Amino acid sequence: MRDTLIIGGGPAGLTAALYAARAGRDVLLLEKSMAGGQMSMTSRIENYPGFADGVDGAELCMAMEAQATRAGAEIRYESALQIDCAGKRVQTPSGWIAGKSLILALGAKPRKLSVPGEERLIGHGISFCATCDGALYRGKRVAVIGGGNSAAEEALYLAGLGCEVLLIHRRDTLRAEQSVAALAMENAGITILWNCQVSSFEGDRRLSGVSLQHGRVEAVSAAFIAIGRIPDTELIRGQLDLDGNGFIVAGEDCYTNMPNVFAAGDARTKPLRQIATAVADGAVAASHV
Ligand code: NAP
Repeated sequence: MRDTLIIGGGPAGLTAALYAARAGRDVLLLEKSMAGGQMSMTSRIENYPGFADGVDGAELCMAMEAQATRAGAEIRYESALQIDCAGKRVQTPSGWIAGKSLILALGAKPRKLSVPGEERLIGHGISFCATCDGALYRGKRVAVIGGGNSAAEEALYLAGLGCEVLLIHRRDTLRAEQSVAALAMENAGITILWNCQVSSFEGDRRLSGVSLQHGRVEAVSAAFIAIGRIPDTELIRGQLDLDGNGFIVAGEDCYTNMPNVFAAGDARTKPLRQIATAVADGAVAASHV
């Protein structure tokens, strides 16, 4: 039996592995594809402290992985096929592995619109994170798609950068909390296009515009899709408390409703999903194991 089993090799899992290994625990981290999670697919990270010129996502994850390994954590590239939270066991293709404690750093992925042009232009004008990429479009005309807290906050963030923001929402009222919605509606830099659906994204090598229903096209330099995130929590459904969107209910202390099972990173209920907040979770979760 291992002291600490960590599932997920994004920044939360890798930081948990580093801290737990440094505390003398026998740590095994399981990662289904490659270390870094969403971070590994980000070409330039400009808001992670310590890198004034930004850092390549893949480079940052390799550095985190090397640091965790050097501290003594074992990282195994195997998928978790089943997770038994009560038993603190994980089944991989090579069998069941048990731990005294379990840190779930399962991650989340942005929900996509699934319209033509989206896949092709992701990273070329289409982004899922204004906090990460907004500064590249300072003063430009940009679109934000969605009507929840994230969309309203992304729109406000971009307006704060001097962007001319089109907030495109499929209904006639924002889902965002009243206070945030009011700020977005009152902001002179934000125009809300109500009852509007994006039908496709335009542009050859870079995004040049968004097509809306009825053939209307709006020219924009960037589009930020903020229509929710999908947590990777299928394997634990029915075992732990999840919120209505499938995120693991856990506070800043990372405690779930089950003893010795902790949630860290994007799969946890939290207001801001960033690398900085994921690594914080990893450190906190590891302090309990
Ligand atoms: P959300 O609240 O689920 O909102 C998603 C928005 O995207 C909704 O307005 C929804 O439209 C729209 N949408 C969904 N699928 C769509 C589609 N296929 N096409 C067009 N529009 C679509 O997601 P979120 O804003 O990411 O927030 C997630 C959770 O985190 C929420 O509980 C939120 O309160 C919380 N959060 C909190 C903070 C904070 O406290 N500072 C910040 C960000 C997020 P409809 O309205 O028509 O359903």
